[in-house]
Amino acid sequence: HEDDDRIMGSTNVSRWSYSDAKAVDEFFALAYAKERKLPVVVVRLFNVVGPRQIGRYGMVLPRFIKEALSGKPITVYSDGLQIRSFTYVEDVTRAIIDLSLEKKAEGEIFNIGNDQPIPIKELAAKVKEKTRSSSEIKYISYDQAYGDRSADFEEIGCRIPDISKIKNLLGYRPQYDIEQIIEKTVEYFANEKKGKR
Ligand code: UDP
Repeated sequence: HEDDDRIMGSTNVSRWSYSDAKAVDEFFALAYAKERKLPVVVVRLFNVVGPRQIGRYGMVLPRFIKEALSGKPITVYSDGLQIRSFTYVEDVTRAIIDLSLEKKAEGEIFNIGNDQPIPIKELAAKVKEKTRSSSEIKYISYDQAYGDRSADFEEIGCRIPDISKIKNLLGYRPQYDIEQIIEKTVEYFANEKKGKR
């Protein structure tokens, strides 16, 4: 939930600078809203996926799809039991636009996401099925995945947003479930591979 306490890891693990930087931005935004009446809305996005996403900084779904479409192993990190809930990009853009037009949202924080959880090993299996790929699903350790950068990485075991606040204010409901999200994203990358994009 937006009001929950946060978990912040050691500053020795540089990945945490990302979440700390976002938190400081939130402090600034909320302070400007309170003290200067700046009309800001803070949004927190949860594993946004869809067409045109690049797989450069993690980004598990485009990576799995590209691996599956090219017949390479689909590489799951660790045991694949870590849980995420993926949100289709259109559900996010719609929510951002609606929040920006809503007076009651000003000076507030909102989670934008989908609250349908899936373990990463199941995501890999679904991608394999929907691409009709013969790729093997391969499990690799974080050390193998990140090499000498693995000390800067820390896994989040489970991430599921509570979206009741945006539901209550806007009647927000994600339109795309995980099956549709994978299908639409697979379709995009399959067309891109065929040179249609
Ligand atoms: N992941 C994976 N294989 C990959 C990329 C990521 O198994 O090729 C896992 C990763 O360990 C994490 C999840 O998929 O548990 C989501 O990773 P992503 O980088 O997309 O998002 P984040 O970690 O920021 O939630």
